[in-house]
Amino acid sequence: MHPAWIEIDVRQFSKNIAIIKNAVNPARVCLPVKANAYGHGLCAIAHAAVNAGVDYLAVAHLQEAIELRQASIQCPILVLGAIHEDQIPFLLAYDLEFSLSSRFKAKLVIDVARQKNRRARVHLEVDTGMRRTGMRPETARHLYAELADNPYLDVVGIYSHLATGTHSRDEIALMQINAFKALALDPMFQQKPIMMHLANSSAVMHLPESHLDMVRPAMLCFGYADSVNDSFSGIAPCFSLKARVAYFKVVYAGEGISYGHTHVAKKNTRIVTVPVGYGDGYRRSLSNRGSVLIRGKRFPIVGTICMDQFMVDVGDESVFVGDEVVLIGRQGDQEISVKELALLCETIPYEILCLFNDRIPRLYKNAP
Ligand SMILES: *Cc1c(COP(=O)(O)O)cnc(C)c1O
Repeated sequence: MHPAWIEIDVRQFSKNIAIIKNAVNPARVCLPVKANAYGHGLCAIAHAAVNAGVDYLAVAHLQEAIELRQASIQCPILVLGAIHEDQIPFLLAYDLEFSLSSRFKAKLVIDVARQKNRRARVHLEVDTGMRRTGMRPETARHLYAELADNPYLDVVGIYSHLATGTHSRDEIALMQINAFKALALDPMFQQKPIMMHLANSSAVMHLPESHLDMVRPAMLCFGYADSVNDSFSGIAPCFSLKARVAYFKVVYAGEGISYGHTHVAKKNTRIVTVPVGYGDGYRRSLSNRGSVLIRGKRFPIVGTICMDQFMVDVGDESVFVGDEVVLIGRQGDQEISVKELALLCETIPYEILCLFNDRIPRLYKNAP
């Protein structure tokens, strides 16, 4: 067995989904599982999400969607990222829904769909203020009118993405919501059932007027709420990072520790080695700043974090090789949160989670 592991609490994950489903009802829930489900593990999370009643999955790239189909995930999958011409046959063959954000791409899709005699299921992506991908609302109106009766292309959704929105009076988000709603309520879209969707985690929590037909929260499903909100109480992280102490030694006062001797022991002390490093995605910028939990107590990381391991000063405490180390998560009444690590690394929780790669095995606990 590998000496470090990520633990995913499937029961907590499913509970988060249930709380969100209840709060947004009757809107459907689409779970974005891009970037290895924010580090939680793409296929296992997709299975757990489908079991928990998620209606849709979304990914950034075709390859992620193919992995899901090859793992027998049958629910609708929306590929969010801009598509390339050579991907179109695969998008059709794997029965994927995908974003269209230009007339040019629509033509390419229709050509391939005609050749293969298939009907592409697409969501028009509208730019209401993110300025990343997506067409302007007027273009969406015109393009929809052109595509409405096309036998090779079925517009099943129209969506947009918010650039801001961590509170209920966020002006940029409200401006985007208004622009999107003005489009969504256009009578031309009322003839056929078209799913309108806009809300990410922050909007799900703070901007109920953005829920529309479907919501796309990911961070919230993984248990990270950006503030306290009664409708979402009970949501909690389902991700922990743990390891076992690999080595123990005594270091004397004045001796330097790890590459560059960036830490020098001030007194004789006990040092343990933890077998996790930046090669796993544990950020090197936590060197001499982060801490871990062992035997229910918090201890500092000392010296530079290496590719595969780092050192912890446990002072006078009795710690043994094989003891459990919590790098993220709870132990006893102590907790190290992803948010804490993000603050120390001057980044956001999203980046901390995404960077954990597949060298650390993921264990799925409490599956129903
Ligand atoms: C990643 C993504 C989301 C989910 O964002 P969260 O903040 O994690 O909820 C929703 N929509 C789109 C288009 C995305 O790319």
